[in-house]
Amino acid sequence: MELTFECPECKMIDHTDDVEAASQSLCRHCHTARDLRPGAFDASGGPVACPSCGSADLYVRKDFPQSLGLVIVVVGFAASTVFWYYERALSAYGVLGASLLLDLALYRWVPDVLVCYRCGSQLRGPGVNPGRRFRSFDLALGERYRQERLRSQDLRDRGASAGSDESQADVGAT
Ligand SMILES: [Zn+2]
Ligand SMILES: [Zn+2]
Repeated sequence: MELTFECPECKMIDHTDDVEAASQSLCRHCHTARDLRPGAFDASGGPVACPSCGSADLYVRKDFPQSLGLVIVVVGFAASTVFWYYERALSAYGVLGASLLLDLALYRWVPDVLVCYRCGSQLRGPGVNPGRRFRSFDLALGERYRQERLRSQDLRDRGASAGSDESQADVGAT
């Protein structure tokens, strides 16, 4: 399986091949190596947690850019209006139907990708969702992790300005 991750140091995206066998993920942009979580895979090699951060909250989605699906439908629609203009209704419906079918077929055949709610790391490859143990994106869970990220960002910001706040408080007390 391939792990795609955001480097916490330089915020660039990189990937690690054969992540089941790897013990570290290396960012090729800033050369920071991070230890991977050893318990991220079960005995049969199926993922149980995020190899990057160890969170067990993961969701599956299709490894398919939604924009591509949209392009197919829009192009199909545009082509069908051209046929309408020349009063060829059957061809118009044909093109529209074909583009929708193509969309459906693509959606069926593109593989799944496993995504970590917490750090956004992605796992790709065969056996990424054994026995369908992971479900698709859960809005409530996603929102919880989004709030968590905002809070930790807020704490970091406060930590950075805590020094100046304290000196101001001292001035007020004296
Ligand atoms: Zn980096
Ligand atoms: Zn993670």
